[in-house]
Amino acid sequence: MANLPILQFEKQIVETVDQNPVVVIIGETGSGKSTQLSQILHRRGYTKSGIIGVTQPRRVAAVSVARRVAQELGVHLGDEVGYAIRFEDRTSERTHIKYLTDGVLLRESLSDPELSQYSVIILDEAHERSLNTDILLGLMKRLVRMRASNLKVLITSATLDGEKVSNFFSNCPILSVPGKLYPVEILYSNERPTSYLEASLKTALDIHIREPEGDVLIFMTGQDDIEKLVSKLEDRVQSLEEGSCLDAIILPLHGSLPPEMQVRVFSPPPPNCRRFIVATNIAETSLTVDGVVYVIDSGYVKQRQYNPSTGMYSLDVVQISKVQANQRAGRAGRTRPGKCYRLYPSILYNDDFLDVTVPEIQRSSLAGSVLYLKSLDLSDMDILKFEFLDPPSPESLEDALKQLYLIDAIDENGLITSFGRVMAELPLEPSLSRTLMEANECGCLFQALTVAAMLSAETTLLPGRSKSIEKKRKHAHLDLPDGSGWGDHIQLLQIFEEWDRTNYDIGWCKDHNLQVRGMLFVKDVRKQLSQIMQKIAKGSLDVRANGRWKEGEQDYRNLRKALCIGYANQLAERMVHHNGYRTLGFKPQVVQVHPSSVLKPDDEGKLPEYVVYHELIATSRPYLRNVCAVEIHWVMPILNKVKKINVNKLSGGTDLTVEGTEGKLSDLPKKEVNIAGVPDDHE
Ligand code: ADP
Repeated sequence: MANLPILQFEKQIVETVDQNPVVVIIGETGSGKSTQLSQILHRRGYTKSGIIGVTQPRRVAAVSVARRVAQELGVHLGDEVGYAIRFEDRTSERTHIKYLTDGVLLRESLSDPELSQYSVIILDEAHERSLNTDILLGLMKRLVRMRASNLKVLITSATLDGEKVSNFFSNCPILSVPGKLYPVEILYSNERPTSYLEASLKTALDIHIREPEGDVLIFMTGQDDIEKLVSKLEDRVQSLEEGSCLDAIILPLHGSLPPEMQVRVFSPPPPNCRRFIVATNIAETSLTVDGVVYVIDSGYVKQRQYNPSTGMYSLDVVQISKVQANQRAGRAGRTRPGKCYRLYPSILYNDDFLDVTVPEIQRSSLAGSVLYLKSLDLSDMDILKFEFLDPPSPESLEDALKQLYLIDAIDENGLITSFGRVMAELPLEPSLSRTLMEANECGCLFQALTVAAMLSAETTLLPGRSKSIEKKRKHAHLDLPDGSGWGDHIQLLQIFEEWDRTNYDIGWCKDHNLQVRGMLFVKDVRKQLSQIMQKIAKGSLDVRANGRWKEGEQDYRNLRKALCIGYANQLAERMVHHNGYRTLGFKPQVVQVHPSSVLKPDDEGKLPEYVVYHELIATSRPYLRNVCAVEIHWVMPILNKVKKINVNKLSGGTDLTVEGTEGKLSDLPKKEVNIAGVPDDHE
């Protein structure tokens, strides 16, 4: 810690922060930005007048860095140093350094628009350009004007174009912390391998046999690839014919790992041992693993992209940008000269790779963000006047407004409704929030809370590779009451109800192939959501969440109705002659129900005529994931509403082009490979 580059600039940093409300700090990954800046400002006394908040785009990073800082200061995590991520708050009255995800800070600003408890806000990892950090950048601009005398804002980044951010903040100072990076030799492949996984395996084994000691960091695209490569490496390292004089430890690193597995990468290897760390892009800049000398770069990343004209998400393996490639290479030169093996030819890097990664704001659904901005209720926070570093496209703004209108969050004139205000307060996507509110009206909030919690924790429910999650769920051999014919939401509810009946027996989870950690998380999330609903209810809602489990068709029917109203923007109608569906959005798509769904055909072999879906995702083809059967007389009023949509009115009569819009969806990187599974970004 003592020799971290940033510490040599402590005096300069403190002076600049003392004299300026906003400072941009650019420093190489691993220079100490995330762990040291908060401590420097704490030493300088900034925690006397408030707390220091440090935002992270990734949950894993918030937890990991907070743990590290608590350790360095010799305090218990959750006391002086804590973290807050969605559904998990480990802070206390005593906390004065708080790591939190950018989403949590946005939510805090709803109840306290001036974020008055903070004396310093550090937007860390701004180069990741997460949607929430981008919104925070705009928000900070306003906040600095309001609290110029008692708020300091620091924006830190490993690669960000400092000038651009500085211009955004009226030419605020930029401090560059020179990194201590050793030279890294870049070795290109002659051509793209047919399998980057096999090519990575071969390269890793070659390094192990031929190269001197030093850890190997391998960039894969997601949990699936990582687990495959870890298992192959384990087999092959044992049986190497030529052998290596070093032992080997193989460690996965991705956002879905349990915390105790994540921290393993921070322990140094035993003597005479080489570590192979097989990671997602989380190791690019979010987490710095010491001891890496060799990097293997597949050149790919798994990215979730939203197409506003179809409402479809795709989870694509796409080529990384040049900035990302250079970050990956940089990981090899932290302790001594290193090597980076790029599994692609230099001509591809030069001619085909984008210079920078497309910011998330230009590849996400904006419904949640637009609702958030509308709920801030500040005249200068109109979405069209909001100052974005890179503005979103008019298509995605239009899509967001239409979606919000269909779920009653805004009225036909684009003004936020009382429903919309409550929805913005819930830490859920707008459709799920709307479902809870409708469930409250229909008297099935108790059940809907469970479904919301199960959906929020879905990725942690089942062990093993993400691809097989649904398959396992389907074959969990749960003896569930009849009703799964209505779809996946009802089944998720029944799974939890069964567990509840066992009095939360851990053995029951194991017997049914459900991950204990995931189920406990669901229980906790459910409790939190219920508390939030109770709190909100004091103002405007009538919460009737005190029933016990009530099975019976009527409850399931009410719940399905609530889902239909909540997901009014995600309806589909069965095709006449077969079991395919057509979405009922603004640009209908022909889709299939995902094979993992438990939705059952009736005796005549037909699936329900109408369904709502949780997600429309393009893998090998467009699929609806998590579907629920709904009834025609709930659907008709929604379709009538769709017909009446007047975008001109919704947008307050203005053109939806935000000044200076750069980049459109059509500029997004070309799709390379499709992979089914669970999103890995924002792990
Ligand atoms: P930056 O934010 O500039 O990328 P960090 O502050 O994250 O740099 O990292 C500084 C150093 O602290 C690195 O050497 C990194 O390995 C170490 N570090 C960060 N988090 C942890 C952790 N949870 N456990 C152990 N070491 C850590």
